[in-house]
Amino acid sequence: MGEKHSIEIPFAIGEEVWCARPGGQEDRVTCPDCAGNLKHVLTAGNGESVELECRSCALSFESPRGWIMRRVPGWYPERFTCRRIVGWGNEMRYSDSLPDATVYSCMDVDHLFRDRADCDAFCTKMTEQQREHMEEQSIRHLASKRKDLAWSYTYWTRQIKSTERDLERIRARLVKCKKPTRKAKAVNDV
Ligand SMILES: [Zn+2]
Repeated sequence: MGEKHSIEIPFAIGEEVWCARPGGQEDRVTCPDCAGNLKHVLTAGNGESVELECRSCALSFESPRGWIMRRVPGWYPERFTCRRIVGWGNEMRYSDSLPDATVYSCMDVDHLFRDRADCDAFCTKMTEQQREHMEEQSIRHLASKRKDLAWSYTYWTRQIKSTERDLERIRARLVKCKKPTRKAKAVNDV
């Protein structure tokens, strides 16, 4: 006779539990980079100041808006009915979708709780982690935008200088070109 494996099911089918879900709210906040000023004033080593548009609060090539949309960190407890089991073992998940649903919404077993208090504690922990993660991300984002800004300044300053040099060369050439033409014309006239 084959050995029978028994699999532990933490929640019974039909059982009403609490599930922890991340909230999808977004909030409009003042741009953390330009503080709503839409621009940055950069002062170069020679004391020269330039203004550059803020790119943190601008969508692609549009003008800066002075505000950004930011997700509000937060996990919230919700009622959940364990209607079916999807996957087993470490992969065990429950679905609360009705049998005739076209898409099954699934929830990891470690996001489900019998007691509301346990679910609340888990939500608090997850919110804290999410907040830390978002702060790290926004610091990294700011640092990269600052780098872009410094790069833009260097790039455009160089462009100006090289264009000015080109302009000088073109003018000098033009002057050189004019002289022989006049002489040639004068020779022809004689
Ligand atoms: Zn900005």
